[in-house]
Amino acid sequence: MAFLSAALVVVGSGVIVLNATGAFDRAESGKSTAPSPVPVPVPVSSTRTKTVAVPVEPTGAATPEQPQSQQPSSPVVPPVRVTSTATKYVFPVGGCRADASQSHHDYPASDIFADKGCRFVSPVDGRVDEVTRVDSWSSKTNVGEDRGGLSVSVVGVDGVRYYGSHLSAIGAEIKPGLAVRAGQTLGLTGKTGSAQATPPHLHFGISWPTPAGHWWIRRGAVPPQSFLNAWHGGRQLSPVALVAKTRRSYGVDRGCRSYC
Ligand SMILES: [Zn+2]
Repeated sequence: MAFLSAALVVVGSGVIVLNATGAFDRAESGKSTAPSPVPVPVPVSSTRTKTVAVPVEPTGAATPEQPQSQQPSSPVVPPVRVTSTATKYVFPVGGCRADASQSHHDYPASDIFADKGCRFVSPVDGRVDEVTRVDSWSSKTNVGEDRGGLSVSVVGVDGVRYYGSHLSAIGAEIKPGLAVRAGQTLGLTGKTGSAQATPPHLHFGISWPTPAGHWWIRRGAVPPQSFLNAWHGGRQLSPVALVAKTRRSYGVDRGCRSYC
């Protein structure tokens, strides 16, 4: 759990957040609509934790001396991590007009229609979960695990997994385990996988973390619309409670249940 507290502290430390103010369209309107170059530059700072020096001196001078053998071998007082209690959420498409579908076929998700080459950004601070860089989808087989084409999932500091697929490119540095921040670019929108025959869009799913390869959960397990709508409007709304409730009702995962 050290990761959670470590990642939380980046909130408010100068990360550029596209939609926190709801000004995502306006703020980006002056920029070129040309796709960003690939690989996507991802400004990951090496310093993700703030530490505060805690006075070593105990209050008062009445503390009796202790034998050296009872002292911890590590430095006297460990640094205290500064944590934020609030998770910050941002809309997962940045730099472009984006229209999130208010329903989805067969299972809960949203298709966020946006031009090819728009930035798919992490909606939350967290760590990269799974990355699929090869598009293996074929219309002849339509294999379920291939439908997403190029995809990235992130497990947020809130314990929720966020998934975006049909990407045209993924940042070279985006690998499982990488710490990412809300608003950080993960890849670019596109139409890989089963989106080859549709307008470009980001398929976006919210779920609970699973072992790798459980694509039938990863693709989306709870309706994301209310959260997307809130984030797009610059409002903070957490899916944590809904994800927990849905996971309980889902029961034991024995594999794909629908649209497999
Ligand atoms: Zn979809």
